[in-house]
Amino acid sequence: MQNLEAFKTVISSPKKVVITTHHKPDADALGSSLGLAGYLKKKGHEVSVITPTDYADFLTWMNGNGEVIIFNQGNEEKSERLIKEADMVFCLDFSSLNRINELGEMVRESKSIKVLIDHHLEPEEFADFVYWSTQAAATAELVYDLICDLGDRQLIDKHISESLYAGIMTDTGSFKHPNTTKNVFNVCAQLVELGADTAKVSKLVYDTNSLDKVKFLGYALNEKLKVLDGFNTAYFAISADELKRFNSKTGDTEGLVNYALSIEGIKFAAVIIDRTEAVKMSFRSIGDFSVNEFARKHFEGGGHKNASGGKSDLSFEETVKKFENVLNEYKDELSTKIKTYA
Ligand code: 5GP
Ligand code: MN
Repeated sequence: MQNLEAFKTVISSPKKVVITTHHKPDADALGSSLGLAGYLKKKGHEVSVITPTDYADFLTWMNGNGEVIIFNQGNEEKSERLIKEADMVFCLDFSSLNRINELGEMVRESKSIKVLIDHHLEPEEFADFVYWSTQAAATAELVYDLICDLGDRQLIDKHISESLYAGIMTDTGSFKHPNTTKNVFNVCAQLVELGADTAKVSKLVYDTNSLDKVKFLGYALNEKLKVLDGFNTAYFAISADELKRFNSKTGDTEGLVNYALSIEGIKFAAVIIDRTEAVKMSFRSIGDFSVNEFARKHFEGGGHKNASGGKSDLSFEETVKKFENVLNEYKDELSTKIKTYA
């Protein structure tokens, strides 16, 4: 943070704080938010965590989950009041205010001091203090580093360390993606020293599936995986009916895109899902193909170079057609053989 000393002064006296994070928070979004909340509470601040929507059941073990205010579950007025009255609003794990839906304008209009902590590409300029790096694998890694920069490492307890560890574990794909840097391992070693039970966190996040979720995965792999030869691309398109048939809950489709990307030779993978609010898309790539640019240009989204998301207001069928059509623009780029390690 450029103006760290000024930031230290601001947070040295008790404040009314709101922490918010993106639509359908994942482990990094929620873990970094609840980890930061735990820390700021210990510093004597009054802290509320507001999420735009609900999130997966496999995240509800995190300390502080019980007090999370879910905006679109009847908490619209309460959230608006908290943001209006806040001295500080922290925005975690997203880079533009449209990622928090209606909360975005409330945050923009609030007179509070705004703090952005994030690792996504091309951040919007709206914050007074910015702790941002695309070198960071996870926002949780940045929260750890910020707490240390503030000289407060000793305030990180077992609860905080486990929430932060969850964010780093998932955003590195369990330490598999190229964002798994030396700093990632260093921070995780520190989190273990501070109490994180890593086996417990892995079990809670990855291995607490419902039978419906596992059966849906089997169905998707067998029936829905489409490989586009010549484009080194594989994708799943999941209809609203199919979600219903497998009693799909928030988080049940997370990770599906990685199965498409795991196929040898595949460079670009996507999942297109017909959600009630819009058609949502997840994009992943290996190597130079930027899914951030792809998502920004065609599907009102963005994220990271190799992991992005987007959405479409077209019908589900039209979105799938558009996806296949726009791929033609990238045929030259996608058709070259992937660089392998061997
Ligand atoms: P996922 O595919 O797991 O939902 O998201 C992959 C990455 O892209 C995450 O870093 C996420 O924050 C970002 N992302 C997902 N959906 C959107 C979107 O609609 N807009 C933007 N700007 N980023 C998104
Ligand atoms: Mn993240």
